[in-house]
Parts: sequence; C-alpha cells; structure tokens
Amino acid sequence: MVNELINPLLHTWKEDMIARCFTPEEASRISDKLIWHFSTHERYVIRSGYELALHLQRNGELGLKGAGEASGSSAKSSVWKLVWHVDAPPKLKAFICLGCSNILAVRQNLCKRRVSCTGECGLCGLNDETQAHIFFQCDFARAFWFASPLQLDVTRLAGGEDFIPTWRYVVMTLSSSEHAVEAIQWFVFGLWRIWKTRNLAVFEGAKANPIEATHLLLNQVSEYRATQQEVQPHLHQAIRTSVAQSWCKPPQGLLKVNCDAAWSSHLLRGGVGWVIRDHHGLLLCAGGEGDLRGSSALMMELLAIRHALNACANFQLTHVMVESDTQRGISMLNGQATVESDLEGLVFDIQRLVATLSRVSFVFAPRSCNRAAHAVAGFVSKQGGNHVWDHLGTDWLFNSLASDVNLAIRY
Ligand SMILES: [Zn+2]
Repeated sequence: MVNELINPLLHTWKEDMIARCFTPEEASRISDKLIWHFSTHERYVIRSGYELALHLQRNGELGLKGAGEASGSSAKSSVWKLVWHVDAPPKLKAFICLGCSNILAVRQNLCKRRVSCTGECGLCGLNDETQAHIFFQCDFARAFWFASPLQLDVTRLAGGEDFIPTWRYVVMTLSSSEHAVEAIQWFVFGLWRIWKTRNLAVFEGAKANPIEATHLLLNQVSEYRATQQEVQPHLHQAIRTSVAQSWCKPPQGLLKVNCDAAWSSHLLRGGVGWVIRDHHGLLLCAGGEGDLRGSSALMMELLAIRHALNACANFQLTHVMVESDTQRGISMLNGQATVESDLEGLVFDIQRLVATLSRVSFVFAPRSCNRAAHAVAGFVSKQGGNHVWDHLGTDWLFNSLASDVNLAIRY
C-alpha cells in the first residue's frame, strides 16, 4: 500500500523504502512531488491559508456562516463563483457543481434515492461511500493528494468531514498562494482524477493505484495547459513580442531555457547551444554540441530545442519555458504551423520529451533576447564535441549572462 511509503508522523516519504521498492527513475518521480510549489520555502503550510480563511470568514467573504452571519444564498453563490472562475474544461466545472450539490452518484447518494446498492467505498471497500470519503478520507485519496504536486495532507484539512466546506476551504487556501490559478487547477483536475479512478474501479474492476493516478493527473494538466496555450497564444506572446527586446527573467517557479543553433548552409553542419537560468537570472547550467548534420537552419534550431529538453529531463528540471529565435519552429511546436515532413521526427521527439516534464511552454524571442544561447552555439560549432557547463559557466559566456541581467561589467 502506498500509505506505507509515507511516514505517518512527519507526513514525508520514507525515502529508503522508496529506494528499495522502485527503480531510480520511478523513485525520482515520486520524490519530485514532494515539493510544495506554491510557497517560497516550498513547504505547504496549512496555517497561513487557515489564517487567511479565518480572516475572510470574519469578513463574510467565504460565504461560510461566520459569527452573527446568516448562511444561505450568499454561501451558495460563493461556491458557484469559486467553481466558474477555475481555469478548467467545462465538463470538469460541471462535475464540481454536481459535487457541490452533493448529487454525484456515490453509493450513499444512490441509497438515499432508493437505488439498490451496497454502501461500501468503490476504492477501499470500507465505510459508507460518501463524497467526502471518496475525495478526502479514503486511503487512496490521502495517498493521491499527498503524491500530487499540491502535496496536500487531507487528514488535516478543515471541513474534511464534508465535501462542500472542504472544497471551499482548499480553494480559498490555495487562492492565497503565489500561483493560485495553477494550484486551484491542480485541485480541480485532482478531484476529477479521483472520480475517474473510482468509476474505473467500480465499473471495470480496475485496480486503483495512487501513483499511477498522480501520473495521469500530471499528464492531463500539462496537456490541458498546452492546448490552452494553442488556443490563447495572444496573451503571453503579445506581451513578449511587443515589450521584450532584451532577455527577461522567467516568473518564479519556472526556468528559462534559451536555445540557439549555428549552421553552415555550405557544409550543412553546425552546432546547437542551450542556457538554463532561474527567476533571478542566475545560470543553472548550459551546454551544446558541435559537428551536427542538418539540412536547414530550422532543423538545427529544433535540434537545439531537443538537446535542451534532453538536458532538462536529465537534470530533472521539470518546469521550463523554452525560448528560441525561430518563429516558425515555435509556431510548429505550439501547433500553429504545419510541421514539414522532414521535421516530423524531430517534432515528435520534442513532444515525447515534453510529456516527461511537468510544464513546458515554447516562446519566440528575438535574437537580442537570445545572445547567451547564440554564444554557446557559436562556441560548440567551432570546437566540436559535446559540452556541459555548471552554474559557474565559462569566462566567454559571462558577459552575455551579465548583460542580460543588466549587471555592470568591470574589466
Ligand atoms: Zn475508500
């Protein structure tokens, strides 16, 4: 059982047991989920959110029945408001609405409607199958939420005895986090994933595995985010293309991966380079490879992106925005331009790598934003061979990195 992998006192993974039970790759994917992404110290602190909720409750904004306040229609409308503001597909919002009306077809609700059925949980076989049990109290749900990117310890949630107060409490708590939209999105997709898993267990006899369910959650959220970017590319793209003429730091929680290629149309050869920096503009690592064959500049640019994503996968850098100065290549990767047949294999490789990471976006940036990667590509194409530099970088890269973050360079 997965809950045997969790230390019940510390609510942390038993790392030694994970190492014994899983391959190194699986273990690293499990441990990856141990980070609370939505606070600066990367640990989930329920107290801060709880304080906020108490504050809001006193001010009547939670819609809960606070001291001297009436509950009723305002409470309901606050629940719907929270649902409709979530960035999720309509079918998931509709599902949450059913949950908030306590009319999901869990066995206890079916019994109430005199449908003949047993009352036990479809996932664990214990207890009465209520909405609160399925989503927050069941062993499966507890392991799933803890393994999810939210790393929620649902046993400690206020309102855990009922679905609606728990939904409201978690959403309000997550609203105070720095990446509120994404955090709430994880929560909604997580509820949906539990429901799907429960239904597969009940109707098809599928065995419910929290780690598999977490992986499905990660895939579903990253697929949804990728399609949203295809549908609404204007937002980030417009801001970038109109404003950014020099390199910009990525938002906190994301790493920026600049990619570039150097290519000789005469020799049909060249080199590719990539540079990975954090939200302070600090170098994490850089690298590249020379002596590569390529039939076009665009092919080389896509090769650069594939190399960079390979490095991200190797170093387990899972939340990245990839920047390249090939507008056509970025459009292809974002599904806005047709992929030329000789590039299909490369684009497929890149998509396969994207699926192994948690969050990847592809952004076009003019050359003036891409000087560091340009310098690396130039260097490796002259030197040949495969190179990787750590956070200390190399001397010839320093000026590009420093000028990108506007440091005064003294000679
Ligand atoms: Zn259960």
